[in-house]
Amino acid sequence: MFEKRRPGAVLFDRDGTLIRDVPYNGDPALVEPMPGAVEALGRLRRAEVPVAVVTNQSGVAKGLLSPDEMDQVNAKVEELLGPFDAWAICVHDDADGCTCRKPAPGLVIRAAAVLDVSPRDCVVVGDIGRDMEAARAAGARGILVPTQETLREEIRQAAEVADDLIDVVDRVLTDAEAPVAAASAPWARAMGWSRW
Ligand SMILES: [Mg+2]
Ligand SMILES: [Zn+2]
Repeated sequence: MFEKRRPGAVLFDRDGTLIRDVPYNGDPALVEPMPGAVEALGRLRRAEVPVAVVTNQSGVAKGLLSPDEMDQVNAKVEELLGPFDAWAICVHDDADGCTCRKPAPGLVIRAAAVLDVSPRDCVVVGDIGRDMEAARAAGARGILVPTQETLREEIRQAAEVADDLIDVVDRVLTDAEAPVAAASAPWARAMGWSRW
């Protein structure tokens, strides 16, 4: 029987995906997890799938947010959602012409490199078309989780759309979660499957 491979990593957009989108937020007190985020991340971590954040923070380039404020917000995200195995952050704006700001693939490629997995083995989860374009450009599997802000066109163009973060994990771990019974598959550990 065909068995899907567990992903090398799941890379999450931050704003509007892991936490509620508060544009250019520099205040840790305003950080609020999206529904299902805690459970979804818990399931991925228990399945020993690395999790990372890939986030555009153009507020830094615009001067609306200091790097220190951004760090404080990210620290609050980890306080509420647990530690991430990698953070890839673009602090540029569209006019900077960088290679990391989504829809460019740079953040996905960087996070995958830090985790020592191929972008092709990664799942990118986001709430807008830019996230899906970055996934596609990097060769990753993109899963869109729309919010009220997501454009109908972005939903129409997405290769895959999930209801929420729980649905994402259901899709990603469909086959990987059950066989994770490590005792019955000691070779999985021997091959260093669990964590890089
Ligand atoms: Mg977003
Ligand atoms: Zn950038």
